[in-house]
Parts: sequence; structure tokens; C-alpha cells
Amino acid sequence: MNLRHFINGEFCDPASASWLDNMEPATGKVYAKVAAGNEIDVARAVEAAQAAFPAWADTPINDRARIMERIADGIERRREEFARAESIDNGKPLSLARRVDIPRAEDNFRFFARAITQWHSEAYDMGSRGFNYVLRRPLGVVGLISPWNLPLYLFTWKIAPAIAAGNTAVAKPSEITPMTGYLLGEVLQEAGLPAGVLNIVQGTGPSVGEAIVTHPQVKAISFTGSTKVGRRIAEVTAGDFKKLSLEMGGKNASIIFDDAHYDKALQGTLRAGFTNQGQICLCGSRVLVQDTIYDRFVADLAEGVRKLRIGDPLEEGTDIGAIVSQMQWEKDLAYIELARQEGGKVICGGAKAPAPNARCADGWFLQPTIITGLGPQCRVNQEEIFGPVVTVQSFTDEADAIAKANATPYGLSATLWTNDLTRTHRVAAALETGIVWVNSWMVRDLRTPFGGVKQSGIGREGGFEALQFFTEPKNVYVDLG
Ligand code: NAD
Repeated sequence: MNLRHFINGEFCDPASASWLDNMEPATGKVYAKVAAGNEIDVARAVEAAQAAFPAWADTPINDRARIMERIADGIERRREEFARAESIDNGKPLSLARRVDIPRAEDNFRFFARAITQWHSEAYDMGSRGFNYVLRRPLGVVGLISPWNLPLYLFTWKIAPAIAAGNTAVAKPSEITPMTGYLLGEVLQEAGLPAGVLNIVQGTGPSVGEAIVTHPQVKAISFTGSTKVGRRIAEVTAGDFKKLSLEMGGKNASIIFDDAHYDKALQGTLRAGFTNQGQICLCGSRVLVQDTIYDRFVADLAEGVRKLRIGDPLEEGTDIGAIVSQMQWEKDLAYIELARQEGGKVICGGAKAPAPNARCADGWFLQPTIITGLGPQCRVNQEEIFGPVVTVQSFTDEADAIAKANATPYGLSATLWTNDLTRTHRVAAALETGIVWVNSWMVRDLRTPFGGVKQSGIGREGGFEALQFFTEPKNVYVDLG
């Protein structure tokens, strides 16, 4: 199967006539070919987006919203097909894609279809002198770049607000997980999205991503991915002063105080550590436990991890699927080795996992791993691993917990487990993160601002913040004198 570009409402082959291998992580085998796009494809996509912009920006909001609802309906109708494609592409359990990723992608379109009909801008009455109002107009052509871990969900989380606000877009899914982005093109055709409003260009970051972000007609970039690539995008676009939203890496802490509801904290910490093989930017990869319950908690956490079923992602009952790529698999293993060198103790896991069945004989499977004995400054506690590898440290009191939680360059999210009301508010305020969950993990109200601080991000996505990002405010003063 060849995964082609979707440009100007049509599927097309890459200008280079070259194709990249698309691997299935569970089998380690090529299962499709993906277009190796380049700057020629990007230029065509930008041209199509520019041509489509005036009419789309002028399309009544209710009509835009109706088309977006039809896109959501299209994904919903084909939910099983999308979930399977995402599981094969990414290695994640099919049950997770079916339950979380794909329904959330549908919701992204529905949410912003509704949000745009409720959005309004400000007017300021200045009495007999005059009045001021704020026009919020779409930017034009925007560039949208997403990673491999939640392929359709994060892709649509950018697309939906961008087109709802009246922009046209050139979007690039990760070359590691291009399948759902490709299928989305079919849904766009079925839903009647006008040609050129959303163009999907497949290919690698250096050849397609960089061509998108540096194209002079691309006015703003919304990127989700690693801090390294986010920094590169900030550098290459600085001279043009492009509007940027960068959602980047994380090294998130799960903080467990001894007054927390023990079982809920344990189950929540397990889920936060290992869902999607630990490959969610919000995963709690550093567990901090109060010293009074440390030994018991570590033992119970390890027991919970040992019970997780590593399996064929397509089989029911699988908790831990395959690691997304051979490169990521080797990176995870290298960090486990580094942890040992740094003096860490592997409490459970720590090695490749045997293939769960014959189909998966050459797949990239890893035992979910817990490591103790590493201080906050060790590399394993400082650098994002992005796999099923979790460290546990102890802390003495509130101040120590906050200091350890904040001791990384990242600042995406944190999870706090406690039943002390005033402590909750004190610690939530003191954590240097964009998101804090209290006695929960990964609960989202799409209206809230989403994003990180420090090296985890600039800008915020979600709700009206996203619509603001994808529009430019113009201040108009009308004198009545
Ligand atoms: P990545 O940075 O390697 O790639 C992300 C995207 O950027 C891909 O589509 C890639 O092709 C593209 N890209 C690569 N080089 C580029 C360049 N020079 N110019 C433009 N685009 C380029 O990230 P990844 O490995 O796909 O994803 C994992 C990372 O994403 C982790 O660091 C994770 O924390 C982060 N992430 C963050 C969030 C968040 O909301 N903060 C959410 C999910 C994932």
C-alpha cells in the first residue's frame, strides 16, 4: 500500500517519486510505503492552501462548523479502521486506540466546530468619545507538524482549531506513523471540505517539516514533538518572526504523599507511567514517594508492573504493546543501561521482552521497567526517555517533594496524590509545570489551556487559546466626535 500526499483535495504521488518504508513495530516488518515528500510537494501544498484561503476565511461559521462535524462523523463511522491503522502503525494496543485515541480525534473536530460558533471578540465602549473593538481574523496558511505517539489525536488537535478559525493549512504527520493522516484525506473528501483547505504532506522532518516551517507564505507554526526539533524550528523561523506554538518534551513527576488514598495513587501512578508503553508526553516517568510509605509503594508498584500483559497490540487483553521504532527501542534500552552505570537498581523489567507470538517474532517489545536509587541530577532523571521506563525516588516533606519535582529542565505536567486540601493548593502552585493533576491523571476538559513551561513548550493549545493562536487581533478605534 502506498500512502500518498493529499494536496488540493486529491491524493498524489511525491515529486521525488521516492517512497519510505513504513514499519509495523509489532512485527518489525515493512507494511506500507509512505511518500518521501520534499520542498516541491510543500510548495504545491502551500499554493493550494493560499488559493483556498480567501473563500474559506469568508465561509460562514455555521457552514465551516457543519463540514467539521461531517469530518468527525466520518472518523466515527470508520473508527475501527482508524483504530486498527493506528495500532499497526504505532504498536499501541488496539483497545487503547479504539477507546481513547480515535474518539478523542473525533471530539477535536466536534469541539472546535462548536467552539467557533460560540467565539466572540471584544468591544470597549468609550462613551461619547468613541469605541474600540477587536477584529480577530485568520492568519492565512499555517503549518501543522505532529509526532508519532498519539498520531491522529495530536494531528487533529491542531487541524481542527486552525481550520475552524478560517485558516488553510499544510500539515505533516510523523513519518513513523503516517497511516491515520493518510486515511484522514479520504474522510476530508467524503465530508466535502473544499480543496486546498487542508493539505497533508508526508515525509521526513528535515525534508518536509523544515520546508513547511521555512516557507515564506506559512504564517504560523503549531508543532508538537521533541524539544530538540522545537528548538530547531524556533531557530530557523526566528528571522521571519513567525508565530509559534511549540509543545515539546516532558519529564513529569507523579508525587505521592503518605496521606493519599493508597490504592488510587498506586493504580494512577501505574497508569501514568506505562500507558501507551510510556510514550505519552504526559506520562509520569519520575515517581516521587514520601519516605514513610516508600518501601511499600515501590514493592506494590513493581508487583503491578509485573502483572501488565505484554502482548500483540492487535490482541484483546494486551496492556503493553510494541515500542514504536527500532531506534526508540534501542534508546530505551540504552537508558536502562545508563541507569545501571549511574548506580540505579532495576526493580523489575530492564530488558527486551520475548515475542508474545509468532507473528511478532521480530517486533520491538520491552519489559516495563522500574528503577530506584538514582538522585534527581542523574541523566536518567533529567532526560526524557519516552518509553516504559520509570524511576522512583523518595522525599521527606513538602519542600523536598517540590524541589525534586522541579529539578529538571522540563515543565509539562505533574500529578499530585494527597488528601490534604491546603497542601494541594500550595504544591500545585509551586510546581513549575503547565498542568497539574490532583488525584487523577490525563483528564482533559478541552476548554482549558494545554501546554508546558520551561523546555516543554511555548504557547498554549486548547479551547479559545487555540482559536486565539490561529487568528491575529486587530484593534479598531472608531471616533464618534
Ligand atoms: P520529533 O521532534 O522527532 O518529531 C516531531 C515531528 O517533527 C515529526 O513529524 C517530525 O518529522 C518533525 N520534524 C523533525 N525534524 C523537523 C525539522 N527540522 N523541521 C520541522 N519538522 C521536523 O518528535 P517525535 O519523536 O515524533 O515525538 C516524541 C516527542 O514528542 C517527545 O519528546 C514527546 O514528549 C513530544 N510530545 C510532546 C507533546 C506535548 O503536548 N508537549 C505531545 C506528544 C509528544
